[in-house]
Amino acid sequence: MLCEECEERGAERDAIVDGVPTRLCARCASMTSGIVVQKPNQLQIDESKRMWRVKEILSRSAGIPYNKPAEKPAQGNIFDKLRPVNREKKSIYQIRAEDREKAMQKAKDNQAQNVVEQSKDAPVELIDE
Ligand SMILES: [Zn+2]
Repeated sequence: MLCEECEERGAERDAIVDGVPTRLCARCASMTSGIVVQKPNQLQIDESKRMWRVKEILSRSAGIPYNKPAEKPAQGNIFDKLRPVNREKKSIYQIRAEDREKAMQKAKDNQAQNVVEQSKDAPVELIDE
């Protein structure tokens, strides 16, 4: 393609000279007073397409280098961790029922013990034959 300024071959720069879009060679583009339009390279295009974090945008506009946070290790399903705990955990009603049962068993044991002890202490009646 011919340069629109010097009419030589090798025009590879897009520029806007006096409000008119033109195609210039590298030499004319470096000397022109117009605006040379630079095409983004593939890396810049890819960068523009990706999602930006708010922190990243802010730090970039402030001129502070942004450090990407370290990847967190995979946590897995949180319910897998909770289920065994919940299975072991007893409800307050279960605990109360067990306590009641223990207390009743203890009372029964005490009663039986008392009967035995009472029979020991009981005065022996002498029976005349
Ligand atoms: Zn030229």
